[in-house]
Amino acid sequence: MRRLGLIGGMSWESSAEYYRLINEGIRECLGGLHSADLLMLSVDFEPVERLQHAGKWNELGEELAAAARDLERGGARGILLATNTMHKVADAIEEAVGIPLLHIADATGERLVADGIGRVGLLGTAFTMEEPFYRQRLEERFGLEVLVPEASDRERVHRVIYDELCLGITRQESKEAYLRIVEELAERGARAVILGCTEIGLLIRDGEGAVPFYDTTRIHAQKGVEFLLGDGV
Ligand code: GLU
Repeated sequence: MRRLGLIGGMSWESSAEYYRLINEGIRECLGGLHSADLLMLSVDFEPVERLQHAGKWNELGEELAAAARDLERGGARGILLATNTMHKVADAIEEAVGIPLLHIADATGERLVADGIGRVGLLGTAFTMEEPFYRQRLEERFGLEVLVPEASDRERVHRVIYDELCLGITRQESKEAYLRIVEELAERGARAVILGCTEIGLLIRDGEGAVPFYDTTRIHAQKGVEFLLGDGV
């Protein structure tokens, strides 16, 4: 098994899901007492969140590049960055190490294309929904048409992530709001909705919405399992 490096802590609520899902995936494939050869570096999220909202992405890029170097030194052969939002600094991470970063948007885009979905809704932080680093990648590399909620709903989705889900809080009214927003995306023609924040799967699950959900935490964790079991570099 190859060793996989996981940059987590953003938030640890979803990193715990990654840890469980990757280990479950390995047990499913290999059976017995097999578990994942994982190296996790979990950052302190409070200063990260402050720097995000202050727009200090260069500093964040440097911090995550240093984390990736530590994982490479520890023997990791590939890296999962366990958050959609921080893929905004994916380039800084990729430049810092000689091992691959398994990009969360690529894993998700591949899955959507394989399922023949062309128009998709996207829920995530405001950074993920509004900035080009994520949407553009899905549109340009995978030919997807990406729909996002209207401004006030984007604000609501964003606030629930930072004020509730990253703190381990799940509220019924937030769940209902998310499902209403999903329904509106479906009415606008989305055939599926990307849960493009790694905590959203803690609030809503596939099967509960008007259209199928593509949960990036599950898809990315599965990519990690495939990497662990793969061969070559
Ligand atoms: N985990 C979230 C994501 O997937 C949000 C937390 C963060 O800002 O990294 O985007």
